[in-house]
Amino acid sequence: MKLIFEKSVPGRRCAILPDCDVEQVSLPEELRRETAPALPELSEVDLSRHYTQLNQRVHGVNCGFYPLGSCTMKYNPRIDEDMAALPGFTGVHPLAPAHAVEGCREVLDTAAAYLREITGMDGMTFQPAAGAHGEFTGVLLIKQYHRSRGDLGRKKIIVPDSAHGTNPATAAMCGFEVVNIPSGPDGCVDLEALKAVLGEDTAGLMLTNPNTVGLFDPNILEITRLVHEAGGLCYYDGANLNAVMGVVRPGDMGFDCIHMNLHKTFATPHGGGGPGACAVGCKAFLKPFLPASRLMDGEGHIQVRSFAGNFLVVVRALTYLMTLGREGIPEAAENAVLNANYLMHQIKGSFSPAFDRICMHEFVLNLSGYKKETGVSALDVAKSLIDYGMHPPTMYFPMIVHEALMLEPTETESKETLDWAAQVFRQLYELGKTDPEAMHAAPHHAQIGRPDEVRAARTPVVRWTKP
Ligand SMILES: *Cc1c(COP(=O)(O)O)cnc(C)c1O
Repeated sequence: MKLIFEKSVPGRRCAILPDCDVEQVSLPEELRRETAPALPELSEVDLSRHYTQLNQRVHGVNCGFYPLGSCTMKYNPRIDEDMAALPGFTGVHPLAPAHAVEGCREVLDTAAAYLREITGMDGMTFQPAAGAHGEFTGVLLIKQYHRSRGDLGRKKIIVPDSAHGTNPATAAMCGFEVVNIPSGPDGCVDLEALKAVLGEDTAGLMLTNPNTVGLFDPNILEITRLVHEAGGLCYYDGANLNAVMGVVRPGDMGFDCIHMNLHKTFATPHGGGGPGACAVGCKAFLKPFLPASRLMDGEGHIQVRSFAGNFLVVVRALTYLMTLGREGIPEAAENAVLNANYLMHQIKGSFSPAFDRICMHEFVLNLSGYKKETGVSALDVAKSLIDYGMHPPTMYFPMIVHEALMLEPTETESKETLDWAAQVFRQLYELGKTDPEAMHAAPHHAQIGRPDEVRAARTPVVRWTKP
């Protein structure tokens, strides 16, 4: 497929403007550009076809199953988009006087109140623009807290080895030393390993529960108690809250601070780097350190982003919360957990789960035995799924499981879709035994087969330059 720049024909336009019938005024010479901008010149129909063709080449949740673990690629109800598209929200100016945007403030305040209730926290901000940015904000709260008490020796943040990669990166960005602790054989926090690293230099612990292998840590109260006893604080990575929302609250598990990805759990489509937003919540004693926006909390506080954050993402989140309501939110969580367990159970006779017990919203398959037997890797299976119109699961994460495939079917999939997906997995399991070569060469019907992933990550070409 040609790039839009390659389709360009000089002089072609989407619109034909009438001749100018007023006096023409030119910009002063020094403000004018020397060369014309390198923009593609196309007719409206060619432009429309170009983007429609691009749209047909990608896989999104509107095309098919998308079980990308730890990413919560669920279907987001259309009504959330409708509300975010209301002109009263889209047309608002960030510098409008507060009295002119009372409705927007009510959206922010109401969404914050609901999320405080869901998480068991006392303070909430919507400033951060993404999950990792929210972690950064939350860990800075922990840092400020210790500093405000003159407790300057707390330089270490404990992160389990199963953590999302952004956790250790965040701790390091905030100036902490990262202390890794190994998971136990059950995939959960090893209490002895935790005790061994806790001390007067502990600033806090970053944890997600359910963790990245999809398991709820049964020792969670003991874990947070031990950290508090050592003088540290507990940070909850709630990027994907869909397993527990409305069912159990991180605040009640003993966490002091949390972030939630509104673009994963609360109705904003994501992927491709679109706008996200993060809610960061904290217990009352951390509230003085929370960044604040002019709209929600008045002037004069620190900010981590301009204005009130990605406001329209909060509009979607509030719509989602209000349409599901007190009964619907835990029901969505139950369906997320039910779907994951159902799919795991259906696949289990073929590929093996890394941890064979009840999971939460996602589970991990361990293909290391299968690879030894057939030579077919997790990557080969992932690539083969593409030919079936299924987005591959998360691969080779978490790092504590070898040949890992991590599946999150999400709460919005039907039993029929899950049955179909399980059947595809079982079919591939058999295919790998009889025709491994076919799987090494997969995908056979995709636009792009196996790009050089290292080069794509290290030296991506994302910008067109005039030849
Ligand atoms: C996605 C994710 C993050 C990071 O969120 P971004 O919006 O991508 O920055 C952090 N932790 C977990 C567990 C995640 O799944």
